[in-house]
Amino acid sequence: MRITFLGTGAANGYPEAFCSCSNCTRARRLGGPSLRKRAALLVEDDLLIDLGPDITAASQAHGSALTRVRWCLQTHAHADHLDLSHLLSRSPAYGVAGAPRLGFYASPTALRRAAETFARDLGSADLLDPRTGDRLNLEVVPIEALQTVCLGPYRVTALPANHDPRAGLLLFLVEGVGGSLFYGTDTAPLPDATWRALQETGVQLDVVVLDHTYGPDAAGDDHLNARGVTEHTRRLREEGLLRPGGRVFATHIAHDANPPHPELVEFARGHGYDVAYDGLIVVVRSSVDRGR
Ligand SMILES: [Zn+2]
Ligand SMILES: [Zn+2]
Ligand SMILES: [Zn+2]
Repeated sequence: MRITFLGTGAANGYPEAFCSCSNCTRARRLGGPSLRKRAALLVEDDLLIDLGPDITAASQAHGSALTRVRWCLQTHAHADHLDLSHLLSRSPAYGVAGAPRLGFYASPTALRRAAETFARDLGSADLLDPRTGDRLNLEVVPIEALQTVCLGPYRVTALPANHDPRAGLLLFLVEGVGGSLFYGTDTAPLPDATWRALQETGVQLDVVVLDHTYGPDAAGDDHLNARGVTEHTRRLREEGLLRPGGRVFATHIAHDANPPHPELVEFARGHGYDVAYDGLIVVVRSSVDRGR
């Protein structure tokens, strides 16, 4: 399984374009992995997690064409994860050639919110009407927490998060040929139901991606901080949810609470996890034993 981080920043990117704080100033000077676009992730070349506002820039910057994306797992409807204009711009009406029909999976709450925004801002069509889907080369599919769906070679389980309930958040367990991934942003400490569900699947994860909005010294409420990621990493290992050699990556990194990349990497190394950066490709090759 090949995983490409298209963006690893929190809601305002890093550096925040309008900000002169010392973290943003140093990140501008350092460049490279210290420059973070809004969070999104690509599995192989056909499964996207989050139709984020920066995926076009990411596709261009990191040579990750999204031409073969057939499925989008949408974590929630917050604007730093969902730019609905992509649904128009990737449609045949905008001259796009060769794009497969996109299966767009999100919670009913997130879809309702997306439909309201779409109708208000993007031409008043009903996003949930299959005829709109036909026009946009799109199939909108509601998915509930704890539901499992098979998408081509992937077995995807939606899991509950601990985040703004109005946003309809889902986290995703993706089991593919040769690897498994848990994508865990945006969320405060994971709910018991999510830990339980991960245990019940019997999965041994190769890659875990966790919300790291708040850094070493900041307290969080709607998101994890560095201490939370450290504790989650320890628990994932202790409970055997992480395969030996499996890795935990921090993402959704905010400018006002985390130092630029090299310093954050040093901190994370001392606490048992890694820090993702935009354009990072992780390739895992394990024979997936789902234990069931
Ligand atoms: Zn976010
Ligand atoms: Zn800043
Ligand atoms: Zn959010």
